[in-house]
Amino acid sequence: MDILDLSVLIAILIALIAYTTKDKLWGGNNKSSNYDSSSGPKATSNDLVEIMKNSNKRAVVFYGSQTGTAEDYSLKFSKEFQSKFNVPTMTADLADVSFENFQNINNEIPDFEIAAFFMATYGEGEPTDNAVEFFDYLANECDDLSGIKFVCFGLGNSTYEFYNAIGQKTVDELKEKGAILIGELGLGDDGTGTMDEDYLAWKETLFDTIKDTLKLKEQAVKYQPAIEVSEKLEMDKSDLTVSLGEPNKHYVNAKSDDELNFLKYGPFDHTHPYLAPVQNTKELFNSNSRHCIHAEFDLSNTNLKYSTGDHIAIWPSNSNEKVDKLLNILDLINKRDTVIDLKSLDSTLHLPFPTPTTYDTVLRHYLEISGPVSRQFIQSISQFCPNEETKIEVEKIAGHKENFHDSITTKYFDIADCLSYLSKNVKWNSVPFSFIIESIAKLQPRYYSISSASGMEKQTIHITAVVEQEKIKDPSDKFITGVTTNLLLNIKQKQNKDGDLKLIETYNLEGPRNMFHNKLPIHIRRSTFKLPSNPSTPIIMVGPGTGAAPFRGFIREKVKQVENGNKNVGEILFFYGCRKSDEDFLYKDEWTEYSKKLDSKFKMITAFSRETEKKVYVQDKLLENSSKVIELINKGAFFYVCGDAANMAKSVQKTLIQIFKDEKKVTEEIASNMVKQLRVNNRYQEDVW
Ligand code: FAD
Repeated sequence: MDILDLSVLIAILIALIAYTTKDKLWGGNNKSSNYDSSSGPKATSNDLVEIMKNSNKRAVVFYGSQTGTAEDYSLKFSKEFQSKFNVPTMTADLADVSFENFQNINNEIPDFEIAAFFMATYGEGEPTDNAVEFFDYLANECDDLSGIKFVCFGLGNSTYEFYNAIGQKTVDELKEKGAILIGELGLGDDGTGTMDEDYLAWKETLFDTIKDTLKLKEQAVKYQPAIEVSEKLEMDKSDLTVSLGEPNKHYVNAKSDDELNFLKYGPFDHTHPYLAPVQNTKELFNSNSRHCIHAEFDLSNTNLKYSTGDHIAIWPSNSNEKVDKLLNILDLINKRDTVIDLKSLDSTLHLPFPTPTTYDTVLRHYLEISGPVSRQFIQSISQFCPNEETKIEVEKIAGHKENFHDSITTKYFDIADCLSYLSKNVKWNSVPFSFIIESIAKLQPRYYSISSASGMEKQTIHITAVVEQEKIKDPSDKFITGVTTNLLLNIKQKQNKDGDLKLIETYNLEGPRNMFHNKLPIHIRRSTFKLPSNPSTPIIMVGPGTGAAPFRGFIREKVKQVENGNKNVGEILFFYGCRKSDEDFLYKDEWTEYSKKLDSKFKMITAFSRETEKKVYVQDKLLENSSKVIELINKGAFFYVCGDAANMAKSVQKTLIQIFKDEKKVTEEIASNMVKQLRVNNRYQEDVW
């Protein structure tokens, strides 16, 4: 067994220990406890069949979701299926229910109709965190699912190698156990930006097939609220029980030692963030129109830990402009601070955020109001059009894919822009607010590759985030903007008192009851993107633009190893690229410092795409340095790629295959297998988005 095998074995062992103890170490999925603010009747067990029996459900829609998209689609499907076929349907997080009795479901619930699965593929063809145990159940505990009818929609990205692998795996494994697939596996593709249309096309055909197969009666789809929203005019938003945007109910007026400790010491995960002070922010670009923010999060007052190569998730809030625009078109601007109470009308549904709250809070902190609007949303809101003229317009546009594309998508409309456009600015004042809550996706945390090193700075996390601001021509030279990165830009402007910096979007940086003052909610996601365990193993890193982020962390880790007296640090070859050396060269001054400390061990090769007539990219530089690359790989080097998944990562892989082909004088097929083998041995790692 060589050192590499040993390190792989150790990594597997660590992963196994971490997995089996995950609830203790990282905090399990305690979603239900965080969101369990429903005032509806509660189920007493997590046995799926028992929950369904107790709530008279006849169909179930599961989701395996990492970033919330699969969850969002599953909720929409569930509502529409229930309304269209009059079949009481529940939605379930795969990790929240026990499948013990699933195989008896047809006997236990004689009028059970169907199970639907909305399954995202994550990373390199892996299941999402909440789907891991379900696959474990299928592999080890489940004998026979004969007769259970199911449908499946996979959510994937065709720019990744293992496109929709988990949707396919779900279908294969369920069929192997005897379950019956109705219709076809749906394939949603985020890579081509067609997820919404892929879903609509799949769903439309599928509903016909389901209707025929299950012999269901169809009725006109009508919105049936699952949440009741009532205004609490006797309450004021200053009342301490009112949520003003706290990340979950534990943050609302926490008093007891237990609650305060939970806020400080966690465990922290995607349902419970740590409110981290943003200590230090600075601009990394030298440009008037483009920004990249370096930000540092302080962990010194918590036991939250990270390790080099991990991801940090930042929980954003929406900008003042976006919130106002939507409140305005919904005719809620004058009631923005009215207190509202939410009640779940369905015992299987957890309220998505703490209640009571206010209209403003819901749009600012809990809903994804900023990105492109979906055709499905417009189709379903059409029942609440403010007048007949708008209804005709909505049907014309939302009923046809091409019309929607030309009139809405190409104009980069968000929900508020779209509603204003369709009604010619007439307010949509009869849309139930419960519809808004149920139809708009929950605001999701955004992930960033950590650019610091846990060896160098144990209690500080650095990130490197490029600010999403793009000017478009139509309509009227507006900007499309990203939620989180513009929030970071606002924090940076405030901290550095950059009066000259013109902000396109502004934010309430103080947050609920000044809780967010210079702080942001965060959690950490463990990553498998890691340095070799043996410090003397050489590494090759390719990371243009913000792809440099984790490599800054890797190099700082290496510097620390040298400072700690390790004389045996392996060679480090770093390919970095950006547009111009004097414009967007990230951490330009730092690399020479690292060079001094790492001496001849560190070599950085740069590609500037806009300095010469012919554009030069990292993959060109990689090819130019073929023999060095092969020399290091022959010495056991690990090869890392970080940044753009759609183009760069693919080109880099292609180039490496070319290098193997040329240098080792083998066929393309053999070269391609050699690169595959590197992946299998964990020596080719990607952190791409
Ligand atoms: P969002 O609000 O999420 O918007 C996304 C995009 O949609 C933007 O480009 C925005 O301009 C566009 N958009 C907004 N409105 C519309 C509209 N109406 N119509 C059409 N388009 C619209 N990023 C980094 O900078 N550095 C990193 O180190 C980094 N690491 C990552 C690591 C991982 C594992 C992953 C998954 C992602 C990483 N990212 C990183 C990307 C990051 O998570 C965010 O996706 C990115 O910062 C944009 O977030 P945002 O909230 O600002 O934009």
